[in-house]
Amino acid sequence: MSAGTIYLLHFERPFSHARHYLGWTGGPLPVRLQAHLAGQGARLLAAVHSAGITWFLARTWEGTRARERQIKRQGGLSRSCPMCGVRPASSADRTALRGLARRYPAYMPPSIRRRALPIVTVSTGGLL
Ligand SMILES: [Zn+2]
Repeated sequence: MSAGTIYLLHFERPFSHARHYLGWTGGPLPVRLQAHLAGQGARLLAAVHSAGITWFLARTWEGTRARERQIKRQGGLSRSCPMCGVRPASSADRTALRGLARRYPAYMPPSIRRRALPIVTVSTGGLL
């Protein structure tokens, strides 16, 4: 089985008892995420979409579909999710999320997106 991308989506608020979706794609991740945004590709995400719940990309792994199933069977996705877990988040989690935000800004919460953007210094031209 070929390697691909395993991805963890974190729901902005719980849908029934679900807080996460774990998926796998052998193609480009943004293509898969765009399909999910349109409510396609997974029954759970279609239901989440219909309920008006936003989700964010919380984590990615390189791996096969078999590895994705293994992670799913382990359960406890919250423990693998940098957007859940302890607050404040560890520096490793924050670094991982900033890295994701740089690669996939469209799928991150605005608070993380802002911190990931390069800081632009605006000159006031001495007016202030
Ligand atoms: Zn989470």
